[in-house]
Amino acid sequence: MHVKNKETTISSRVRSLAPSPTLGLDTEVKNLRAEGIPVINLGLGEPDFSTPAHIVRAGVAALAQGFTHYTETPGIPELREEIAKKLRRDNKISYLPSEVVAGVGSKQILYHAFQALCERGDHVVIPTPTWTTYVEQVKLAGALPVYCKLTSPFKLTALALAKRFSPRTRVLLLNSPANPTGATIDQEELRRIAELAVRTRIFVISDEIYEKILYQGKHRSIASFGPRIRERTLTVNGFSKAYAMTGWRIGYAAGPERLIRAITSLQSQTTSNTSSIAQKAAIEALRGSQAPLARMRQEFTLRREFLVRSLSRIDSISFVPPEGAFYLFVNVQRLLNHRMPTASAWCAKLLKEKRVAIVPGESFLAPGFVRISFAASMHDLKRGARRIADFSRGR
Ligand code: PLP
Repeated sequence: MHVKNKETTISSRVRSLAPSPTLGLDTEVKNLRAEGIPVINLGLGEPDFSTPAHIVRAGVAALAQGFTHYTETPGIPELREEIAKKLRRDNKISYLPSEVVAGVGSKQILYHAFQALCERGDHVVIPTPTWTTYVEQVKLAGALPVYCKLTSPFKLTALALAKRFSPRTRVLLLNSPANPTGATIDQEELRRIAELAVRTRIFVISDEIYEKILYQGKHRSIASFGPRIRERTLTVNGFSKAYAMTGWRIGYAAGPERLIRAITSLQSQTTSNTSSIAQKAAIEALRGSQAPLARMRQEFTLRREFLVRSLSRIDSISFVPPEGAFYLFVNVQRLLNHRMPTASAWCAKLLKEKRVAIVPGESFLAPGFVRISFAASMHDLKRGARRIADFSRGR
């Protein structure tokens, strides 16, 4: 008997979800390459370096030793202890291992955090331009994103935030250094934001995944400003960017034990623990030599300087050199016209005509801008920058 497939209906919650634009672009680049069309990919949000050898060796050793079973849901005690040590050492925040959870990338932890913190209709204040994953995750938690719109040079202030707070605000999302702008929050301003959050009883999620990729100043964690802000902050971080471990899928968060228990409980019903092998590798990343990290940062510094120098020669575009992360966020408004009315159209034409992939600002709630990643080889950056310059000049 032939049974006709029932129409597959997708929930409205998921239907209204905007899929990750950067991952979408990456798929498009891979498809073009599979057709034999060479593309320079400056759209990526991941270091092009390989995971440092000593970290890989720790992963291989874990496999060889049969460390291939389920672990404790929030991560093995040894890893949580090591993360707590790192947070004490680097970020001057004291956490117990029971206040730490490791998960399948910081992305998963952020998702669980919004689920754990937000009631339906709660407001989550997000400074924009922003990584839209936050926005979609907030919506999936039934909460409402409220934007604090920043203009170039995209420096967040307590004053700007205060204007967006209301009695319905439950969470404030911070990301410094930021994706996509590379902007950081100045220390004094961060202190004021901490005071504001304490005074208004708003919870802070602080995504510090780019803390190690910084070109000026020193990173400061909001939770380090004292016990009252520490108890209402979830400090989120991971291994993807600092240790070139995007594919290992491991990130972590530290915060009040009640919240960590809630996130762990959610995790126990979604993914269980993150990969046992990745956990062993992550311990080595924190314990072992930090020299590869310094080398990566040095290389990013050179690339940043190159890109800033070569693109500042183009009159029709403007940008502020990033303070951290590995992106240049460029205003292309003056190049838009009736044939290319949006940054998306501009990027699509750049890809079609010059075979350079970059991400349009619409993907970060910043129309009129484009994000150029310098997590690419100098060879690709040189060719990419030349093509972007030609394209901008209408050649
Ligand atoms: N946070 C920010 C700001 C990011 O840009 C990214 C990745 O692009 C992540 C978090 C997610 O990192 P992961 O899930 O690999 O730890």
